[in-house]
Amino acid sequence: MADAFENILGQPQVREFLRATIAGGKVSHAYLFTGPAGSNKTLAAYAFAQSILCSQTGCGECDCCQRVMRKKHPDVRYFAPEGAGGYLVDQIRDIVADTSLAPIRAHKKVYILDRVDLLGSSSANAFLKTLEEPPDDVVLILLGRTRESVLPTIVSRCQVVPFRHIPATEAAGILVQNTGATKMAAEIAIQACDGSITKAIEFLKSNERMTFRSRILEVLSSLALADDWDVLTYAEDLVVRAKAPLDVVRASQEEELAESADFLAKSAIRQIEARNKRALTAKSFESLRQMTAIIRSWLRDVLAVCAGVPELVINADVRASIEEAAARTDEARAAAALAACVEADRALTYNVSPETCLDALLFEIRSTLYGTGSTHKAAV
Ligand SMILES: [Zn+2]
Repeated sequence: MADAFENILGQPQVREFLRATIAGGKVSHAYLFTGPAGSNKTLAAYAFAQSILCSQTGCGECDCCQRVMRKKHPDVRYFAPEGAGGYLVDQIRDIVADTSLAPIRAHKKVYILDRVDLLGSSSANAFLKTLEEPPDDVVLILLGRTRESVLPTIVSRCQVVPFRHIPATEAAGILVQNTGATKMAAEIAIQACDGSITKAIEFLKSNERMTFRSRILEVLSSLALADDWDVLTYAEDLVVRAKAPLDVVRASQEEELAESADFLAKSAIRQIEARNKRALTAKSFESLRQMTAIIRSWLRDVLAVCAGVPELVINADVRASIEEAAARTDEARAAAALAACVEADRALTYNVSPETCLDALLFEIRSTLYGTGSTHKAAV
């Protein structure tokens, strides 16, 4: 049976549950989807929204379904934490105020709140009443990493829908089945996207991302012979490339703003502009994380070759450069370089500037793997 839930890959139980909910007309007012990053929660939330709003329970074809799918339906709202540490109380108050407004196109409104594990107690308090008893035409879908990481006062007011962790090999298999990609390409994309099938599909489709990956791998394979100036140039180039997808996001934001400028109040436009700015920051962060994920997977490959298990190499298209790097280093040093990369990833989440972070990481990888330029003490 083809419906909006068909695309919730790797989650058969979730799919059946949501199907039964729609078929039985038993949609409740608040859901909490729990599961690790990459378990398809966001996609499932949009599919569920489609089925709730579409007059044919999510046909996937009608104008309503198309709008939801393209994330352009005014009655499906998506929110992510806007503060560095999580949801801001003001942000929650805005959402609460918004729920009392009538739907624009459909008969109901769906609110998707991502990362509610980052909903602190004061923002949660501002939300509890709405969560318990939202207006009749509102459905709330909350997304969180684990049930335990979400405040109990939130959990107890929602119908909890658990998503399973999809192992990387299974995720790659799903990707092969659904995109026709080769097994190698699928594994590479899954590694670069930290296990997320949805992001991996985007990654495979994007020439720009594939070029980004090639450049990162090129830099890594050149490190052994690079002098300090080379390393600085590489880092600068990679940071510029990491920011490239922002142009696309910015263009679509401007287009959207131009479309709505006629009927929106100045204050509403300012709000959208502020939200757009935060979306750009999030996108840039995602791209940087993709870069460190690609570096990690290359280092893991070098480690696999050093450890005598070359069959575990994921980036098989650059096997020659991986073997060359492995020949210049050993297992312990490759493991140490990998640890440095995990550390750099953490530094990025603490808002260390990407330039500083990547400079330090490339120097660190070079000195750890090859013992050159070891006077440079990385500040990651
Ligand atoms: Zn439809």
